[in-house]
Amino acid sequence: MRFAVDCMLGKLAKWLKILGFDTVFFSRIEDEELISISREEGRVLLTRDTGIMSRAKDFRSLFIDSEDWHEQVRQVLDELGIRDEVKPYSRCIDCNTALKELSRPGAKNLVTPFVYEHADAFSLCPDCGRVFWRGTHFKDMEIKLNRLLK
Ligand SMILES: [Zn+2]
Repeated sequence: MRFAVDCMLGKLAKWLKILGFDTVFFSRIEDEELISISREEGRVLLTRDTGIMSRAKDFRSLFIDSEDWHEQVRQVLDELGIRDEVKPYSRCIDCNTALKELSRPGAKNLVTPFVYEHADAFSLCPDCGRVFWRGTHFKDMEIKLNRLLK
Protein backbone atom coordinates (compact mmCIF):
# COMPACT_ATOMS: atom_id res chain seq x y z
CA MET A 1 0.00 0.00 0.00
CA ARG A 2 1.30 3.47 -0.93
CA PHE A 3 0.64 6.75 0.84
CA ALA A 4 0.44 10.48 0.29
CA VAL A 5 0.71 12.28 3.61
CA ASP A 6 -0.61 15.76 4.32
CA CYS A 7 1.72 18.57 5.50
CA MET A 8 0.89 18.48 9.20
CA LEU A 9 1.71 14.76 9.53
CA GLY A 10 5.49 14.75 9.01
CA LYS A 11 6.29 12.36 11.81
CA LEU A 12 3.70 9.86 10.63
CA ALA A 13 5.21 10.05 7.11
CA LYS A 14 8.71 9.43 8.46
CA TRP A 15 7.60 6.39 10.42
CA LEU A 16 5.64 4.91 7.53
CA LYS A 17 8.89 5.04 5.55
CA ILE A 18 10.82 3.44 8.41
CA LEU A 19 8.20 0.67 8.37
CA GLY A 20 8.90 0.22 4.66
CA PHE A 21 5.87 1.87 3.03
CA ASP A 22 6.13 3.89 -0.18
CA THR A 23 5.22 7.33 1.22
CA VAL A 24 5.31 10.82 -0.23
CA PHE A 25 5.26 13.86 2.02
CA PHE A 26 5.62 17.56 1.23
CA SER A 27 6.14 20.14 3.95
CA ARG A 28 4.19 22.54 1.72
CA ILE A 29 1.72 21.56 -0.96
CA GLU A 30 -1.57 22.86 -2.36
CA ASP A 31 -4.59 20.70 -1.48
CA GLU A 32 -5.42 20.27 -5.15
CA GLU A 33 -1.97 18.93 -5.92
CA LEU A 34 -2.01 16.53 -2.99
CA ILE A 35 -5.37 15.22 -4.17
CA SER A 36 -4.21 14.74 -7.75
CA ILE A 37 -1.00 12.95 -6.69
CA SER A 38 -3.05 10.56 -4.55
CA ARG A 39 -5.50 9.92 -7.36
CA GLU A 40 -2.94 9.55 -10.17
CA GLU A 41 -0.40 7.48 -8.25
CA GLY A 42 -2.95 5.31 -6.45
CA ARG A 43 -1.91 6.49 -3.01
CA VAL A 44 -4.02 6.44 0.14
CA LEU A 45 -4.29 10.05 1.29
CA LEU A 46 -3.70 10.55 5.02
CA THR A 47 -4.87 13.87 6.44
CA ARG A 48 -6.31 15.66 9.45
CA ASP A 49 -8.00 18.21 7.21
CA THR A 50 -11.75 17.68 6.87
CA GLY A 51 -11.82 20.01 3.85
CA ILE A 52 -9.49 17.74 1.91
CA MET A 53 -11.37 14.65 3.12
CA SER A 54 -14.63 15.96 1.71
CA ARG A 55 -13.03 16.31 -1.72
CA ALA A 56 -11.24 12.94 -1.69
CA LYS A 57 -14.12 11.02 -3.18
CA ASP A 58 -12.86 8.86 -6.04
CA PHE A 59 -9.84 7.40 -4.27
CA ARG A 60 -8.97 6.00 -0.87
CA SER A 61 -8.26 8.30 2.03
CA LEU A 62 -8.13 8.09 5.79
CA PHE A 63 -8.89 10.81 8.31
CA ILE A 64 -6.26 10.67 11.07
CA ASP A 65 -7.88 11.03 14.50
CA SER A 66 -5.04 11.55 16.94
CA GLU A 67 -2.43 14.29 17.26
CA ASP A 68 0.01 11.77 18.72
CA TRP A 69 2.18 10.10 16.08
CA HIS A 70 2.26 6.72 17.84
CA GLU A 71 -1.53 6.64 17.71
CA GLN A 72 -1.46 7.83 14.11
CA VAL A 73 0.81 4.97 13.00
CA ARG A 74 -1.35 2.44 14.86
CA GLN A 75 -4.52 3.83 13.31
CA VAL A 76 -3.08 3.53 9.79
CA LEU A 77 -1.84 -0.03 10.35
CA ASP A 78 -5.04 -1.22 12.01
CA GLU A 79 -7.75 0.52 10.01
CA LEU A 80 -6.14 -0.39 6.72
CA GLY A 81 -5.20 -3.88 7.97
CA ILE A 82 -1.60 -3.69 6.77
CA ARG A 83 0.43 -4.94 9.73
CA ASP A 84 1.49 -7.90 7.57
CA GLU A 85 3.01 -5.52 5.01
CA VAL A 86 5.40 -3.91 7.50
CA LYS A 87 9.04 -4.31 6.40
CA PRO A 88 11.17 -2.15 8.67
CA TYR A 89 14.30 -0.50 7.26
CA SER A 90 13.64 -1.45 3.65
CA ARG A 91 13.21 2.10 2.32
CA CYS A 92 15.34 5.27 2.21
CA ILE A 93 13.83 7.80 4.62
CA ASP A 94 15.19 10.66 2.50
CA CYS A 95 14.03 9.76 -0.99
CA ASN A 96 11.51 6.95 -0.43
CA THR A 97 13.42 4.48 -2.64
CA ALA A 98 13.58 0.75 -1.84
CA LEU A 99 17.01 -0.04 -0.36
CA LYS A 100 19.40 -2.64 -1.74
CA GLU A 101 21.39 -4.94 0.48
CA LEU A 102 25.07 -4.05 0.66
CA SER A 103 27.73 -6.66 1.39
CA ARG A 104 30.30 -6.03 4.14
CA PRO A 105 33.17 -5.61 1.67
CA GLY A 106 30.97 -3.35 -0.44
CA ALA A 107 30.31 -1.13 2.57
CA LYS A 108 33.92 -0.83 3.68
CA ASN A 109 34.80 2.32 1.76
CA LEU A 110 31.40 3.93 2.22
CA VAL A 111 31.27 4.18 6.02
CA THR A 112 33.65 5.24 8.78
CA PRO A 113 35.96 2.58 10.29
CA PHE A 114 33.99 2.79 13.54
CA VAL A 115 30.70 2.06 11.81
CA TYR A 116 32.28 -0.69 9.73
CA GLU A 117 33.56 -2.32 12.91
CA HIS A 118 30.33 -2.09 14.89
CA ALA A 119 27.54 -2.58 12.36
CA ASP A 120 26.44 -6.03 11.28
CA ALA A 121 24.31 -5.31 8.20
CA PHE A 122 24.37 -2.60 5.55
CA SER A 123 22.06 -1.38 2.85
CA LEU A 124 22.34 1.25 0.16
CA CYS A 125 19.88 3.68 -1.40
CA PRO A 126 20.36 3.38 -5.18
CA ASP A 127 18.98 6.89 -5.62
CA CYS A 128 20.88 9.14 -3.20
CA GLY A 129 23.70 6.74 -2.31
CA ARG A 130 23.03 7.00 1.40
CA VAL A 131 24.20 3.95 3.36
CA PHE A 132 22.10 2.59 6.21
CA TRP A 133 23.35 0.16 8.80
CA ARG A 134 22.27 -1.72 11.84
CA GLY A 135 24.57 -0.47 14.55
CA THR A 136 24.57 1.07 17.97
CA HIS A 137 21.47 3.22 17.43
CA PHE A 138 19.61 0.17 16.22
CA LYS A 139 18.61 -1.17 19.65
CA ASP A 140 16.79 2.05 20.52
CA MET A 141 15.02 1.89 17.22
CA GLU A 142 13.99 -1.75 17.80
CA ILE A 143 12.55 -0.87 21.20
CA LYS A 144 10.57 2.01 19.68
CA LEU A 145 9.35 -0.20 16.86
CA ASN A 146 8.28 -3.01 19.15
CA ARG A 147 6.39 -0.57 21.34
CA LEU A 148 4.75 0.90 18.26
CA LEU A 149 3.75 -2.40 16.70
CA LYS A 150 2.45 -4.17 19.78
ZN1 LIG B 1 17.89 7.84 -0.75
